Amino acid sequence: MWSIDIVCSDPECEWQAEVLLDELEEAELLVCECGHCAVVRAVARFDAVYLSVDGATAGARALALSAEPA
Ligand SMILES: [Zn+2]
Repeated sequence: MWSIDIVCSDPECEWQAEVLLDELEEAELLVCECGHCAVVRAVARFDAVYLSVDGATAGARALALSAEPA
């Protein structure tokens, strides 16, 4: 996922938002309420939560193995 910081392309407009998108291309479809296009100001990679779940599972397994008698 992507965390995208967007602002309005109209300098007179104060609109800004942070959105989460699956595809970076979706940012091009965003339009401000005033009718101007949104401009991407910053893009950050937003790693899905399941990656940390995988890490926790691996950690739990390692813990179980080390707890077993040799
Ligand atoms: Zn605007």
